[in-house]
Amino acid sequence: MAGYLGNKFDMIVHHLAVMTSECKIYEIKKQDSVYFVPDILDQARKEGFAPCKYCVN
Ligand SMILES: [Zn+2]
Repeated sequence: MAGYLGNKFDMIVHHLAVMTSECKIYEIKKQDSVYFVPDILDQARKEGFAPCKYCVN
């Protein structure tokens, strides 16, 4: 299972293991979903994603 999921629509990255209902993960469209290789926060940042304030610290 992936650790991080990026939403291209709002350019926010979520940490799936600790996501909250505020994240609205299930509203992210398939075409807006991005997984990272390697699956780490640094990679998400490099690709321009901002950490979610609810699940990424
Ligand atoms: Zn989140």
